[in-house]
Amino acid sequence: MTNFSETEERQELRKQVARLASKYGRDYFTAKARAGEKTTDLWLEIGKNGYLGINIPEEYGGGGGGIGDVAAVCEELAAQGCPLLMMVVSPAICGTVISRYGTEEQKQRWLPGICDGTSTMAFAITEPDAGTNTHNITTTARKDGDEWVLNGQKIFISGVDEADNMLVVARAEDAKTGKVKPVLFVVPTDSAGLEARSIPMEIVSPELQFQVFLDDVRLPGDALVGDEDGGLVQLFAGLNPERIMAASFSTGLARFALERATAYAKERAVFKDAIGSHQAIAHPLAQTHIEIEMARLMTQKAAALYDAGDDMGAGEAANMAKYAAAEVACDAADRAVQTHGGNGITQEYGMAGLLVATRAGRIAPVSREMILNFVAMHSLGLPKSY
Ligand SMILES: Cc1cc2nc3c(=O)[nH]c(=O)nc-3n(C[C@H](O)[C@H](O)[C@H](O)COP(=O)(O)OP(=O)(O)OC[C@H]3O[C@@H](n4cnc5c(N)ncnc54)[C@H](O)[C@@H]3O)c2cc1C
Repeated sequence: MTNFSETEERQELRKQVARLASKYGRDYFTAKARAGEKTTDLWLEIGKNGYLGINIPEEYGGGGGGIGDVAAVCEELAAQGCPLLMMVVSPAICGTVISRYGTEEQKQRWLPGICDGTSTMAFAITEPDAGTNTHNITTTARKDGDEWVLNGQKIFISGVDEADNMLVVARAEDAKTGKVKPVLFVVPTDSAGLEARSIPMEIVSPELQFQVFLDDVRLPGDALVGDEDGGLVQLFAGLNPERIMAASFSTGLARFALERATAYAKERAVFKDAIGSHQAIAHPLAQTHIEIEMARLMTQKAAALYDAGDDMGAGEAANMAKYAAAEVACDAADRAVQTHGGNGITQEYGMAGLLVATRAGRIAPVSREMILNFVAMHSLGLPKSY
């Protein structure tokens, strides 16, 4: 093994997850999506095998591994045509924030269910008016005796219908200074005053997005995660894992598209030889292969830095990985459609659905433009542009 390849253990993990996911595969995933059903059996099986919470400490039901492990699981699932967005959210964002900042009691209460898949947690920061500018969120947390009262709106929140709880980012006013600070709460999705409305999306996925209305939602004092004054640091703890996971989601989808396109290019012949013998078909696929490997390497670097405790170094690498992975996934889907000709747009071959699924990676969880803003400012030292 050299420094440029993953450990044997990680490679074995990838093989096992790929084997498990291939029993389900793309047909299972799209059939569930089109029937309005969920992929709960796959979710529970990866939970039961210890893959879902592989990044979470063992004492709370996890595998005691790192973000690189859970990212490998996410990538291998997507590479088999089963991209699970809730893997980004539940074990990686919520699991990391609670593991790092939750009280002992909170960790005992929420982490085991995140690990075995029986109690999924959604994550809610985005708001209709604030959008990318999360500093402008207006969901407010007010203290009322020992309780907190939440009011506000969230949008594009994934998997609320599959989640028992939601980690909600709100703002609270500091009683002493009057300054507004971000605070995090675990909110049960069946709380009185919480309403979730599904947003019709063009993505072919069993995982849905929701608009969430919080109307005087009352929470006990211990729903607050971590320190009331440390909200921003706590929130940032979830960002690198989120980006590394989003990158893995995209590289997995890109691998899936490339694998299908290559197989089709080998078998389909319309002139003398298979269409893959024409460079116009072969070169874009070869290019995608190179770009996938580059994005995967960057993702593995980001995960290695994060797991080594270098949050700053991981920040730049995670942003770059997420950017590179989203770009190659979009290109891979487009090239897979083109390789399939008319079949590329049929439901039977399922390639066109990848166009929207991969396209979402350029927007969420952080947009392409915000990554370029980050790199321009932090890597190149250019003035802040927003
Ligand atoms: C499939 C999906 C799942 C999601 N799941 C979740 C979830 O579970 N939880 C959650 O909290 N959120 C979730 N989101 C929301 C997601 O994080 C946001 O959509 C994203 O952050 C962009 O915000 P916006 O949609 O409001 O776009 P806007 O902020 O309105 O931005 C619109 C466009 O303007 C660009 N732009 C804005 N400001 C600047 C600037 N200063 N410089 C350059 N360009 C700029 C943006 O990059 C973007 O291209 C999800 C979104 C999608 C699509």
